[in-house]
Amino acid sequence: MLYEAAGPHNPGALDVAIMAAGDIGGLSLDAKSSNGDDHYGQYDRVRRIFMDWVSPSIAHLEFSPLQNLANYGWEKYRSNPIQASGLGWPLHALGDAANPHHVVATTSWGHRPYEDFVQKHWLQLFPSSSSDLLENPVYDPAQLHRIVEQGFYFWQGLNADPDIRKYVVGLAVQTRAQVRSQNDWAYNDSLSIQYELDGQEEAKAGYQGHEDRMRPLLEHGISAMVGLLMKAAEIARNPGLTPTTICPAGSQYDIFSLKCASVLYTCEEPKLVPIRTIRSTVVETCVQQVGVCGLDGKKCCSGFDCYGNVCTIPPR
Ligand SMILES: [Zn+2]
Repeated sequence: MLYEAAGPHNPGALDVAIMAAGDIGGLSLDAKSSNGDDHYGQYDRVRRIFMDWVSPSIAHLEFSPLQNLANYGWEKYRSNPIQASGLGWPLHALGDAANPHHVVATTSWGHRPYEDFVQKHWLQLFPSSSSDLLENPVYDPAQLHRIVEQGFYFWQGLNADPDIRKYVVGLAVQTRAQVRSQNDWAYNDSLSIQYELDGQEEAKAGYQGHEDRMRPLLEHGISAMVGLLMKAAEIARNPGLTPTTICPAGSQYDIFSLKCASVLYTCEEPKLVPIRTIRSTVVETCVQQVGVCGLDGKKCCSGFDCYGNVCTIPPR
């Protein structure tokens, strides 16, 4: 990413403002605390020393590309495939590569309102996440089918060429081509300005009516993640049994304190419901980690808190 070259055709208002702030205020990268130069810079085509990172202002510094970030994490995972944490980098990169604003490296052109809109309307874009799921499983089997089928093709692509950088770039190119073929509907600079001038809700609403164009981009990004995870599963090694994680009856291993703890998560006895769809027939009366909560009175199991309608482990 390079601010001078941001945007679908030219930098947007916020890009220019950031560049001006960078040039006037002398804002430059804090390379000592930044991970970018340490982790991803090693894959750049040009080798840069410390001064190369800190001397240009933020306006004229070319950041390491997204595919290098992905490569860093993927290599980390491949070198020790019993630890999934490295996968966070390529998964993050694929999410970005499915976003029209990230693929043209802009902070402006409607970047933030677009992302906020997607977050706010996720349950409409992906009805499979419906809060009504347990009582009345409404999901779109055709959407599920599309994502899994495309995921398979992505996996095939990664097998044919295992370079994760090309995999990420390939998705970004598809994202850009798709939006371009639809008159660049995603790029609206005035929405970014409106968002900053305290019209956040109105700015988000600027993307109303574009859901049918967003959905394929998002589905494609998820398919690319499915393809990557399939490949990761092939490489994964069974860590085997670690005796220290064996806990006496009535307790379980707690990954945070790294010792046996009394049972953290108790759910009521699962109930069975008649098989109506291909999805799971086991229903729990409280929501486990990363499940949807807070809607229709759905509560998280003990040990989790409901943040933004998702059950998560509270920070300690
Ligand atoms: Zn973003």
